[in-house]
Parts: sequence; C-alpha cells; structure tokens
Amino acid sequence: MSHEPPLTAALLEAFVLCPMKFRLYRLGNAQSGVTRRVEGARALHAAVKHCLDECYRAGGPGGYPVQRLLEDFTRSFDGRACADSREEEEQRATGLRILAEYHADHLGDALCDLRVDVALEGPIDAWTWRAQADRREARPDGSVAYVMYSTARRPPSPGALAEDLRTGVLQLLAEGAEGRPVEVEVHALRSRRVLDATKRPDQLAALTQRLRETATSATALADPPALRGRHCRWCHARSICPQWSTR
Ligand code: SF4
Repeated sequence: MSHEPPLTAALLEAFVLCPMKFRLYRLGNAQSGVTRRVEGARALHAAVKHCLDECYRAGGPGGYPVQRLLEDFTRSFDGRACADSREEEEQRATGLRILAEYHADHLGDALCDLRVDVALEGPIDAWTWRAQADRREARPDGSVAYVMYSTARRPPSPGALAEDLRTGVLQLLAEGAEGRPVEVEVHALRSRRVLDATKRPDQLAALTQRLRETATSATALADPPALRGRHCRWCHARSICPQWSTR
C-alpha cells in the first residue's frame, strides 16, 4: 500500500485534463481561497449542502420546519463569491427554491437510520482512495443507500452515470466498508429528481479497470506536463503553475 496522499475521483478527473494539476492538487498546493466567476455556483452548493446536513442531522424534513431551512440558507449563503449582485440574487433565489422543493418532496419519507456527511477511505487495488457521501441511509426495506447532492444545472444522463468515477469510487469503497451491495443515488436538486447511480457488477469491474489504468499513469509520472487550456480558468493551482508563473 502506498504512503502517498489518497486518490479521489476528482483527482483523476484533474489528471485527465492536466497531469500537473493532478500533482499540485494531490500535494495540497492549490489555493482553495481563490475566487473566480464559477465560485458563485460553488457557494450555492456549499450553502444548500450545509442546510440539508443540518436538517438531516436533526432527523430529516419531517421534524424540521421549512422556514428554519430557509433561514439557515439565508444565513449561510456567501454571496461575495458571485461575480455581481445580479448573479448573487439569482443564486440566492435558486437556493431558496431548491430547499423549499426538497423539503416538500421528502417530507413523507420513511424514517430510517441516518448518517450525514460520510467520509470513506480504503483500498482499491494498490492505492488508497477517498470518497464522500452527503448521506448514508439504512432503509426500512433492509437496503443501504449512499446519497450525493447535485446542484448542477443539467443532471447527468443515465449513460454518464454508468461511467461516472465519483459515484463509482463511492460505491466501491462503501461496499468494501459494508461488506454487502449498496445503492448509490444522486439527488439532482434543481430538477427534483432522484437518479439511480448504482453500478452493476460488470460496470464496477470495468470502472475498477479504468481506475487502475489511470491511477498507474497518474502516479508514475516523475515530471508531469502542465497542459494549458480553457480548464486553466478554473484551476486553483494557477498561481504556482510553471505554465503561468513566467507570464
Ligand atoms: S493552470 Fe492549467 S496548466 Fe497549470 S496546473 Fe492548472 S490546469 Fe494545468
């Protein structure tokens, strides 16, 4: 087992765009405080997640008034991350709408054994991997589900979910930790849809092979190239990237 920092699906996605980004992010050198145009969407996601975490820590929408949820959002949404006041108002309105709708949609959910913000870490092949779920639910029918929230404008298609690395790594680590099959759901909050992201055994085998190949390439590079492109606009390592430091 390697003593390097754990791998994540997000790190492998970074590697596919730019090996240098993978290296700098993995070493923890990226500047997470950098504010960019895209930060408004991240601020929205962070505030919505925070509010739902608080709601589910208290047992879920059934015991948590919607007004309290909306007040939580008003307090926690950081509008300074938005490009201008117009975007701030749009993101604020979107967050309030998302939370009101989610509360209404899940008010009647059956009570289950809940854990919020679940971090998983474990081996897949020769590497240690890390993944995060927004919720783990042990449901009355005996199944165990891991839930991830998405505030993206366009929810992923079934084809994209079948090959998605983030939900795949989560399922592999969760099944390793539970010792049994689990379900993985993406709750697409803008469209009020619950997407089944559970992979079949053959899909998990193919995904494990992809993880093996990409992780082998990513960790073997002694001198990773910095590949400039449009993705640099959102890279938090740009201030220390050799491709940009001399400009
Ligand atoms: S700024 Fe661009 S080239 Fe540099 S590490 Fe980030 S993605 Fe790679």
